[in-house]
Amino acid sequence: MTSTHAFWLAGRQATGETSFDVTNSWDGRLVGKVSVPTEAQVEEAVAAAHAVRDEFAATPAHVRAAALDHVSKRLAERTEEIAQLISAENGKPIKWARGEVGRAVSVFRFAAEEARRFNGGEAQRLDTDAGGTGRLALTRRIPRGTVLGIAPFNFPLNLSAHKVAPAIAVGAPIILKPAPATPLSALVLGELLAETDLPAGSWSVLPVPNDRMPALVQDERLPVISFTGSGPVGYAIMDSVPRKHCTLELGGNGAAVVLGDWSSEQDLDWAATRIATFSNYQGGQSCISVQRVIADSTVYGRLLPKIVAAVEAQVTGDPSDSATDVGPLVSEDAAKRVESWVDEAVEAGAKLLTGGERDGATYAPTVLAEVPAGTTLACEEVFGPVLTVTEVTGEAEAFAAVNDSPYGLQAGVFTHDVQTAFRAHRALEVGGVIIGDVPSYRADQMPYGGAKQSGVGREGVAYAMDDYTYERVLVLTGL
Ligand code: NAD
Repeated sequence: MTSTHAFWLAGRQATGETSFDVTNSWDGRLVGKVSVPTEAQVEEAVAAAHAVRDEFAATPAHVRAAALDHVSKRLAERTEEIAQLISAENGKPIKWARGEVGRAVSVFRFAAEEARRFNGGEAQRLDTDAGGTGRLALTRRIPRGTVLGIAPFNFPLNLSAHKVAPAIAVGAPIILKPAPATPLSALVLGELLAETDLPAGSWSVLPVPNDRMPALVQDERLPVISFTGSGPVGYAIMDSVPRKHCTLELGGNGAAVVLGDWSSEQDLDWAATRIATFSNYQGGQSCISVQRVIADSTVYGRLLPKIVAAVEAQVTGDPSDSATDVGPLVSEDAAKRVESWVDEAVEAGAKLLTGGERDGATYAPTVLAEVPAGTTLACEEVFGPVLTVTEVTGEAEAFAAVNDSPYGLQAGVFTHDVQTAFRAHRALEVGGVIIGDVPSYRADQMPYGGAKQSGVGREGVAYAMDDYTYERVLVLTGL
């Protein structure tokens, strides 16, 4: 019999009255049962966080940094076990799950370093104006209050880490709400937090059902909402609490541009391999996976067969097998949605070059060319292992094609030319431009977030720390 996983309420384990199942989308097996907090338990967690907020903000930085270092170290020690859990709950190939744990190790380490570095403010002379003679301003960054961190299913550990670690680094209490499909790795993160000396009320991990989230979102004791997930849910949250400080990390339909100067055999082989890998990693269920390839007409004809060959070389199969590149999607419904979008594009005239088949929750790595504008696939985030390739002429047309999207998370530009790189940086309406690689590159310390409908605000440890705090000025007179 599968035992029920407790959740974390104000730093201790607790169980509610009901539970839900977490299943593996590859073979349908039960991975775990997770206890659901009652309304009274959620209230207890929020009240505890609110009560401890001043004490937590006053905790010495070295204490918070030591806790963050501890979590980083323990994640590293338990990498294999946690990777197996992520792979089981999410269907993510084990090699990518190991990578995810490695990134969470770094996020907690970066947060420990930033907690030590975070000077909390600066001194500013005010006597540059006559009215300020004899005055000095000192600023400190003060936590805004308890953070409600809402995480998606696709990086269940690392995107939880991106909510939790910066909050601890600045001394802001955090209530983490994992995705219903993938709560287990977030609950393990709770085990590691429980090994630290952080004040008990300063953190909770609560798998609250979606239909009870609006009440939590509205709670005035939670002034900061850090949300990662889909646009409709994110914007509905922000619209419902216009006076709260919201960070929204939303979707994208990432483009990789291959320009005419990226033309040697070696160049094109590298681009094709990177594109194939990062349109399919995690079944394409990454907000920065490659969905659109935009290739200059001078390289298109040579690049396309290389992309198709590299996509066909992706190994689809059991996510627990280290050889597997592409596992199932998070659910059969998700795979059916992807299938319907591809079918719609093909009916509208798109050329299917490989893939296009579904087996349960698994969708085959797929490449299409000549996808008509206006189809769902051409406009929306597919969030599946599907790639469209479009031929353009010249840099200006390529950049316009990238911008012809409601989204703007990241873009990759394959070019050797530094001037082109700067022009891309200026022209592309995205949160990040990656030169010489796909849009899927993310370093966890860099500012990360979207333009247009890909989000509001930035993550990346130091940037989230700024977001979770505000500047309070102290003016000294008579100096
Ligand atoms: P989702 O929007 O369905 O769910 C995200 C989270 O919101 C989950 O924890 C869910 O339980 C919760 N939620 C659902 N309804 C809610 C409500 N009414 N109030 C409050 N919370 C609610 O997204 P998902 O399917 O888990 O994740 C996939 C999406 O996330 C994709 O669009 C992807 O691009 C995006 N994403 C963005 C980033 C980024 O950093 N920009 C990173 C990863 C994923």
